Amino acid sequence: MESGSNSLPSGPDGVKRKVSYFYDPEVGNYYYGQGHPMKPHRIRMTHALLAHYGLLQHMHVLKPNPARDKDLCRFHADDYVSFLRSITPETQQEQIRQLKRFNVGEDCPVFDGLYSFCQTYAGGSVGGAVKLNHRHCDIAVNWAGGLHHAKKCEASGFCYVNDIVLAILELLKVHERVLYVDIDIHHGDGVEEAFYTTDRVMTVSFHKFGDYFPGTGDVRDIGYGKGKYYSLNVPLDDGIDDESYQSLFKPIMGKVMEVFRPGAVVLQCGADSLSGDRLGCFNLSIKGHAECVKFMRSFNVPLLLLGGGGYTIRNVARCWCYETGVALGIELEDKMPQHEYYEYFGPDYTLHVAPSNMENKNSRHLLEEIRSKLLDNLSKLQHAPSVQFQERPPDTEMMHEMMEENEVDGEQRYDQESDVEMNEAGHFSKSASGRVKTSLVGESDDKNTVDAKENEIQKDIEMKCLEKLE
Ligand SMILES: [Zn+2]
Repeated sequence: MESGSNSLPSGPDGVKRKVSYFYDPEVGNYYYGQGHPMKPHRIRMTHALLAHYGLLQHMHVLKPNPARDKDLCRFHADDYVSFLRSITPETQQEQIRQLKRFNVGEDCPVFDGLYSFCQTYAGGSVGGAVKLNHRHCDIAVNWAGGLHHAKKCEASGFCYVNDIVLAILELLKVHERVLYVDIDIHHGDGVEEAFYTTDRVMTVSFHKFGDYFPGTGDVRDIGYGKGKYYSLNVPLDDGIDDESYQSLFKPIMGKVMEVFRPGAVVLQCGADSLSGDRLGCFNLSIKGHAECVKFMRSFNVPLLLLGGGGYTIRNVARCWCYETGVALGIELEDKMPQHEYYEYFGPDYTLHVAPSNMENKNSRHLLEEIRSKLLDNLSKLQHAPSVQFQERPPDTEMMHEMMEENEVDGEQRYDQESDVEMNEAGHFSKSASGRVKTSLVGESDDKNTVDAKENEIQKDIEMKCLEKLE
């Protein structure tokens, strides 16, 4: 069996990394509504654990600058963003048609402060990308981000704006190739769709497949056009344990790193793949989940760690706290420190929880079949595809210091527009059957105008991307 070891320079896990951590103290106050499983409070619980484990002092703690309309519109449609900005719980009854059109109302309810919530979690992810681009840190962390289901003009699966797509677009200003890895139990459909036709972003999603939300992520969905073989899907069944999971994760990701050679990696750490999740059905321990973080960190490539799903919130906080420790190279004591949410963690008050004895429906034979299928797809990729920038688009300046004077917010905050990013995303969308149709992601009324503009941008990009790498 392959060990998943790699030929890239990778440091020992103990070696320290510079970590920037994004957190807005307001984020825990947003509330999806009674009975809704998505609870932003889990981000605040994670933060409290980090503080009491003494991890904050080892990181650069930053409060994200809220993403602005035009930041969100790099991926999302203007009319969808205006809708999110203006809708309120009080006015939603007058907007039934719009709610339906943008899939807002049920799984994705309207709640107080919805738009600021979106601005905050997207601001953290884009801010993290900017920090990585500037080489201010080796790893950037935004546990409020990772909302991988949001589409260009549609909310989906508790996600309104896709902070991951926005962060990847920012990373693409500096890096020729960006890798996206998704270990949430749900398929990372919004991110996959956005980059389905490009070879500059590889997306790899490990998820439960078969009669499960969102229904996409078949092993046969591999990308389209220039993006063929740049989307990878790892369909899994109920009850997968640490050993089975890593028997796929390490060999596949080792091979991806070797052949794709990304300049930056975005890892969505959705914690609904943990054992005992309220909505999930996998059987991973926190250490098994965190092994993915450890493995991706070992390549010494700029790394953006994001949150995502996770509905047994005490375990979400445990997981993301432990994974922050992994990012820093600090092993945490199992015995939890006293803190304001201590009572959530009884009766054991430990960081780790044992996985259950549920059946692992993933047979060795099936895992082996998936593994060889995906390694075979990867072998069809040419090493290091041939795109190179001749000039670098300007950064988005998003972040300001939480603990220091705000030096960024002056006249320089908003730089000129760069349209380079947008045409990387959203030329094609897959129909529900998994086939590809030629249209913008989530077609809008001004499709023709957008198409014309995008064609021009595409030409422009191709001019800039002529250089071949050997
Ligand atoms: Zn999920």
